[in-house]
Amino acid sequence: MRLRKIVDETGMVALGAHLAEHLTAASVVYLQGELGVGKTTLARAMVQALGHAGPVKSPTYTLVEAYRLDRLSVYHFDLYRVADARELEFIGMRDYFGHGSAVLVEWPENGAGFLPPPDLVVTICRQGRDRRVELAAKSPGGLQWLSIPA
Ligand code: ADP
Ligand code: MG
Repeated sequence: MRLRKIVDETGMVALGAHLAEHLTAASVVYLQGELGVGKTTLARAMVQALGHAGPVKSPTYTLVEAYRLDRLSVYHFDLYRVADARELEFIGMRDYFGHGSAVLVEWPENGAGFLPPPDLVVTICRQGRDRRVELAAKSPGGLQWLSIPA
């Protein structure tokens, strides 16, 4: 487990770029923390670091946004509005997993039982005006994220 303090959005974007370097087509990353804490900011930084030049909007209403990038394809989920994980069965959620795309998930709690297990869990908390970011590796592959520079 690693903890870091992020004092502004620029710091979060830099962290996202480092996290993106270790993403593979099998990676599953959970992004946890309350509303407005910076989950989408971090996911956006990861997608843009992988070469996406356009906007990265929050998938709050669409549930998922897909990005086909040079090195990797990415699915960015936001399950905030999912009241019951069984809803995910109906939208064919399982079809998104295991087909060679990295998966980033905001509000993974709302998809319990339907999501693949994570390699990395990122938990963001407010700490005054700063953010405290916890990186927890959950698979052997996830350990490489813990060695990224401070
Ligand atoms: P979430 O997806 O967790 O609901 P967002 O990323 O959409 O959160 O929003 C985070 C908001 O907080 C943005 O408006 C961003 O500019 C602001 N912000 C302020 N400080 C930070 C920081 N250190 N890291 C990330 N976002 C920050
Ligand atoms: Mg969000």
